[in-house]
Amino acid sequence: MSDSLEQAKARAESLRGQINEYNYQYYVLDAPTVPDAQYDRDMQELISIEKQFPELQSVSSPSQKVGGSALSAFEQVTHEVPMLSLDNAFDDVSLLAFEKRIYDRLKDNKALSFSCEPKLDGLAVSILYENGEMVRAATRGDGQVGENITTNVRTIANVPLKLRGENYPSRLEVRGEVFMPKKGFEALNDYQRANDGKVFANPRNAAAGSLRQLDSKVTAKRPLMFYAYSLGVVTPEDFELPRYHSARLAQLGDWGIPLCPDIDTAEGGKGCLEYYQRILTLRDDLPYDIDGVVFKVDDISVQQTLGFVARAPRWAIAQKFPAQEEITKLLDVEFQV
Ligand code: NAD
Repeated sequence: MSDSLEQAKARAESLRGQINEYNYQYYVLDAPTVPDAQYDRDMQELISIEKQFPELQSVSSPSQKVGGSALSAFEQVTHEVPMLSLDNAFDDVSLLAFEKRIYDRLKDNKALSFSCEPKLDGLAVSILYENGEMVRAATRGDGQVGENITTNVRTIANVPLKLRGENYPSRLEVRGEVFMPKKGFEALNDYQRANDGKVFANPRNAAAGSLRQLDSKVTAKRPLMFYAYSLGVVTPEDFELPRYHSARLAQLGDWGIPLCPDIDTAEGGKGCLEYYQRILTLRDDLPYDIDGVVFKVDDISVQQTLGFVARAPRWAIAQKFPAQEEITKLLDVEFQV
């Protein structure tokens, strides 16, 4: 860690340049050149320099930003409610520190319930339903402006084009992850190899590359799936929704929206850590790729009290798993740490 301001400034600038380049390769080109573990280390180093030297903080630092810019090949969609990122915890101690920060802010030590969700490794997507019909889908982009990918999302087999039942809000924005299950990813790469096509580094890149196709016929052939993890815009505003996030997800399920079967709830940080261990043990046997788990304060009114910081909510955190592979070799893709 840099100890003088001058050294820290030079290191922060170098890290910012490097991270901006990684972001461009990952979010815009769907072609990362380094493993996520290295990206995460660089980002953590930048965040700790900015913490140690607050005079180096800047709103244009990649530590303050969400994702990447929208590709101009697609029509742009401005999100009515920004699509943010998540803070990360890389070990149990930082997960418990997250819990303590919440209790300190609430000035209440009573254990809260958390919604516990696998952190699917795909692409964040917003799907808008009007009067029960799917009318628009968009990528997260930079959190404010995403890409209109409606025709591509319509081809995803488990995305309902119409909601079930009748008692749903007139406008309902469903947010979730588009991902490629492991089996489909392997089959796609086998096919690509046999046909001299592009081989994808991991299911996340395959999902992103498949979803951001200009020709939706290509997307239709790719084995993509969607699982919802939150709601965005709901109109009318006074539409009665359950008080807890987990119950809202269940409500989405009743309207026919697909949910990850491994979501659960837990009491306090201790319960969250038990969930983390359970999912970590299951990780290799799950049909989809995950890079951690996400914990969200379940009570929406407590979420509202806690609010947001620049790029992430205070009431949620992603606890990342240890890097599965630091070195991946895949034909034209080579990651070295
Ligand atoms: P993030 O991955 O840390 O977390 C936010 C995202 O998690 C959401 O946008 C959503 O898509 C996803 N998510 C999955 N399940 C979820 C759930 N149940 N609830 C809420 N969100 C859920 O943040 P990010 O900004 O999307 O990406 C940053 C990460 O991407 C980095 O930590 C790094 O691992 C990777 N990355 C890698 C490179 C590279 O070059 N290798 C570059 C940029 C980013």
